[in-house]
Amino acid sequence: MARKLIAGNWKMNGLLAGATALAGELAARAKGPQAPACDFLVCPPAQLLFPVAELLEDSGIALGAQDCHWAQSGAHTGDISAAMLADAGCSHVILGHSERRGDHGESSAQVKAKVEAAQLAGLIPIICVGETAEERKAGQALQVIEAQLRESLPEAGDVVIAYEPVWAIGTGLTATPGDVAEAHAHIHGLLAAWHGGAAADATAILYGGSVKPENAGELLAVDHVGGALVGGASLKALDFWAIGEACS
Ligand code: PEP
Repeated sequence: MARKLIAGNWKMNGLLAGATALAGELAARAKGPQAPACDFLVCPPAQLLFPVAELLEDSGIALGAQDCHWAQSGAHTGDISAAMLADAGCSHVILGHSERRGDHGESSAQVKAKVEAAQLAGLIPIICVGETAEERKAGQALQVIEAQLRESLPEAGDVVIAYEPVWAIGTGLTATPGDVAEAHAHIHGLLAAWHGGAAADATAILYGGSVKPENAGELLAVDHVGGALVGGASLKALDFWAIGEACS
């Protein structure tokens, strides 16, 4: 069975001193004898990528970013390209996070263009999908997930999918294992229908939404959950580590 991926999304948090202390502590733990049987990934804000990359060297912890532009270079003030992220040492990039869709009006078509740009630069995109509370109440959760996935998934190539119900992100509310099982089985089924069973089995489908050490064990044990995308709890080394330990 594939190792689970525990990915930390630091969002717009962290100045140099605190972020390097956090990365340093994670790297020290990862180099120690008690490293859990999972793959760790941290996604700091862009200005911290280079110093964090240096600290993570030889630790086995991968580095990712939180967004990229769909163009390879050019007149896009304030944006960052996938090649720049690869140059900084990233292997992954989070795309289509609900905070990007919400704060910046990103459409699934734009997410797909970013996914393709990331793949071109050799990065593995982590494509986020998930329904709002209103959509869930209206019984539309699976339809929303399906539409976002259909519109943002590339034709081929490695991707990671993150199912993140919007109402569970940063709220302390967590989807029940039953909700997670239903959504993940649906996503796995769609991937199998579109790209074949082997591709579906090989694609990690992460759960994200208020994952913490106390609930990680039961969420990570759900069928078709290939890991977790962790926001708030990834800012504390002990909590992030404990979520990794829940994989074993
Ligand atoms: C996220 O930002 O992707 C996330 C899941 O955040 P939190 O864990 O804080 O809910």
